[in-house]
Amino acid sequence: MKQKNIGEFLKGVRIAAVAGHVNPDGDCVGACLGVYNYIRDNFPETDVDVYLQKPRQVFQFMNGFNSIHTELIPGKQYDLLILLDISSRDRIGVAEPLVDAAEKTLCFDHHVTNRGSYSWLFNVPEISSTCELVFSFMDETKVSRNCAECIYTGIVHDTGVFQYSSTSPDTLRAAAKLMEKGVPFSEIIERTFFEKTYVQNQLLGRSLMESILLFNGRLIISYMRQRDMRFYGVTSADMEGIVSQLRNTAGVEVAVFMYETDSEVYKVSLRSRETVDVSEIAQHFGGGGHIRAAGATMQGTPHDVINNLTYYIEKALYPEKE
Ligand code: 5GP
Ligand code: MN
Ligand code: MN
Repeated sequence: MKQKNIGEFLKGVRIAAVAGHVNPDGDCVGACLGVYNYIRDNFPETDVDVYLQKPRQVFQFMNGFNSIHTELIPGKQYDLLILLDISSRDRIGVAEPLVDAAEKTLCFDHHVTNRGSYSWLFNVPEISSTCELVFSFMDETKVSRNCAECIYTGIVHDTGVFQYSSTSPDTLRAAAKLMEKGVPFSEIIERTFFEKTYVQNQLLGRSLMESILLFNGRLIISYMRQRDMRFYGVTSADMEGIVSQLRNTAGVEVAVFMYETDSEVYKVSLRSRETVDVSEIAQHFGGGGHIRAAGATMQGTPHDVINNLTYYIEKALYPEKE
């Protein structure tokens, strides 16, 4: 099924803004820069600015990386705001005021918990990634290698390299088409997904060592305090991937990894394997996400946070007890 093309939303648009979510992941950075490249390559009459929190350095190879704005350009008016991988307004970050200020808003997303109100919203929770979704809105013949590299990276990241259950035949067909554009697929997977710095591996090792198993080994939890993060000199971006490794533990259904972002404030990541809907658990704490991957920010000591989480996780693990 071929649907509308991004070009149709750009008619009469002199200046567009593109924005993703806070703590941008590969899908978010790939979708934002993919759309940026697509517009730059094919719609010279439309000017475009990208707003994102500074992405991880591993994404620097993407064309447009150095043009990313981390602060709102004061007074600049946009005809169209394109939001990518955004499930709710509070996840937008610096570009949030543009939702009201821009003439029109267009959102592409794939979160079951999407609560947005825009001029156009395309939210497909079953699809692997926002990158796969926006690619389906692009004219394939107009996708440059630069654009393809961004989109391919996003698909790789949100599917865990074509592993998660959200990967479909359509995902692989999209990846094949992107591969035909000449993307260095092997290098992208190696350098942006698997490769870790020495200190990132140390954090992973420590988190695995300190993890605890609950509910007969069906739940695994680990956390990192701010003072330890300072000791290693790391930021939130260095924690990516730890929760997936915890989930790889045999017998585990739910994995939780949390790190302290402020005194007794924890960014919580939740993952599940087969049965538990973690987006539902995250929503009890003002968060959201997908069925198998979700997150929230919670307050309290690690003990408080774990207690609050396990109340709902236990219910989800043992629904027959209801
Ligand atoms: P992660 O654990 O990798 O930070 O996030 C996993 C998924 O949950 C992502 O799709 C992300 O967008 C979503 N997510 C993470 N934290 C939050 C949050 O605080 N609020 C909402 N609404 N979604 C979140
Ligand atoms: Mn994302
Ligand atoms: Mn995504």
